[in-house]
Amino acid sequence: MRRYIFKGLSRSDQTKEILIEDAANGLACDCVCPGCKATLVAKQGTERIPHFAHYTGSSCRYGETMLHLLAKKILKAAARIKLDDERILYYTNAEVEVVEGDMRIDVVLRNNITHEKYAVEIVVTNSLSDEKIERLLRLGYNVLEIDLKGFDENISEAELSEILIEDTDCKCLFEPEPYYPGKAEKDESGLKWMMVAFMVLMVIGFVNVIKKKG
Ligand SMILES: [Zn+2]
Repeated sequence: MRRYIFKGLSRSDQTKEILIEDAANGLACDCVCPGCKATLVAKQGTERIPHFAHYTGSSCRYGETMLHLLAKKILKAAARIKLDDERILYYTNAEVEVVEGDMRIDVVLRNNITHEKYAVEIVVTNSLSDEKIERLLRLGYNVLEIDLKGFDENISEAELSEILIEDTDCKCLFEPEPYYPGKAEKDESGLKWMMVAFMVLMVIGFVNVIKKKG
């Protein structure tokens, strides 16, 4: 699958990053790939999105696939996503490429009213590792993995949007451990008994006040 690069390194000073929007077109960009240091060519305006590409065919995996890129753009612009067959998440805020320690999250969706936060990972080539899922859960995220493996990279934005928002077959949801149900019930009945005890004490107090007055 083709990968798109948006940041090259200056050939003469490889500590210097050059963004695609600042680069001269074609080979005049004079950039190399941050991943493999091979020559890059800037493709301005000839395709869907301006980007750098490796000048000669390369097996380098630096950069991003169009599917991944489009999926992030769609989720950022949308305001709801179907999580599974019963639930829809309505979100008020979407942030892409969120850095959390040494991790990077594709998209973080938040609902500022319910304070839910979802880490969304769009999988095009490699599935999410169990370790990353665990770490995200421990940080209080619900984790939604969206599997786009095997999808056609030339899919239209409208089609991909429909799949991302409405489809649930491609989604896998991981949630932090719910409260132990048995314990929650016990706590609730404990609260009931406290209420009863409180009311009994109130009645006794009231009866005493009346007795004194009488
Ligand atoms: Zn490369």
